[in-house]
Amino acid sequence: MTLKTCILIGAPVDSGKRRRGCLMGPDAYRTANLAETLTDLGHKVEDRGNLAPAPHNGDQPDHPVHAVNETIAWTKALSDAAEAAMSEGFPIFMGGDHSLSAGTVRGVANHAARENRPQFVLWLDAHSDFHTMESSDSGNLHGTPVAYFAGRDGFDGFPSVTNPVPEDHICIIGLRSVDDAERAALQDSHIHRHDMREIDEHGIAKPLQAFLDRVAAAGGMLHVSLDVDFLDPDVAPAVGTTVPGGATVREAHLVMEMLHDSNLMTSMDLVELNPFLDTRGRTAKLMVDLAASGLGRRIFDRVTRSY
Ligand code: MG
Ligand code: MG
Repeated sequence: MTLKTCILIGAPVDSGKRRRGCLMGPDAYRTANLAETLTDLGHKVEDRGNLAPAPHNGDQPDHPVHAVNETIAWTKALSDAAEAAMSEGFPIFMGGDHSLSAGTVRGVANHAARENRPQFVLWLDAHSDFHTMESSDSGNLHGTPVAYFAGRDGFDGFPSVTNPVPEDHICIIGLRSVDDAERAALQDSHIHRHDMREIDEHGIAKPLQAFLDRVAAAGGMLHVSLDVDFLDPDVAPAVGTTVPGGATVREAHLVMEMLHDSNLMTSMDLVELNPFLDTRGRTAKLMVDLAASGLGRRIFDRVTRSY
């Protein structure tokens, strides 16, 4: 197993939606022993504490987009931190709501461009987060990062996306809540997307392996963004956007185990954990267990792949 230097970066971003609580996410991961768990697997782990947004002028409460200036300030801080951390190890961003991925993916994509390697993104989520500021009815920016880092228009005031992730380098798995505007935009795009019905019918390994094969063939770097609502709310209740019918514990572990076996993953976000909604820390613990599977925890060593 390849041992890594895991760089834990707390991103207590709570500006991407109105319901508060994700700012407690980083400390919930610490309390659930994320660093100790990865250390036990043999990795070197550095917890760099929490980031803060860049200075900004504050937000108008009646602005149609919620806390837009704060989210822009977070995007700048996270992008710089992500780009810097990529040359030092394997960054794990402890969120924070999903708007943080506007910054993390912008940053890792800048790093990949400097290394002359293509950037890929695996988005594990009930939602496609493919809105722009114009198409979003809710005005919640946690529903927009994919459109942002794919280089779509409609993000005035945000740092420009110097190295957009090409649409066909993005794969979304777990979809089960997509509104009309997003559906139209997705159908018009080259984003690879797999909804829960497809997973029910054919399993989760097949679309994931097909995507990983493409990443490997291209010599790509792979950012994985894990939204708590990818999981079924029965096993992961600590999220403000629960949608029934999500991935099971085993489906989620299989994804992470295959990611580890592929040796392709180069950075990761753990997002949307709202500890205020959790039941005795079970969601935080499950997310830590999933991160551990992604970084090499296994029941038995396998000589050959099991899928
Ligand atoms: Mg999301
Ligand atoms: Mg979601």
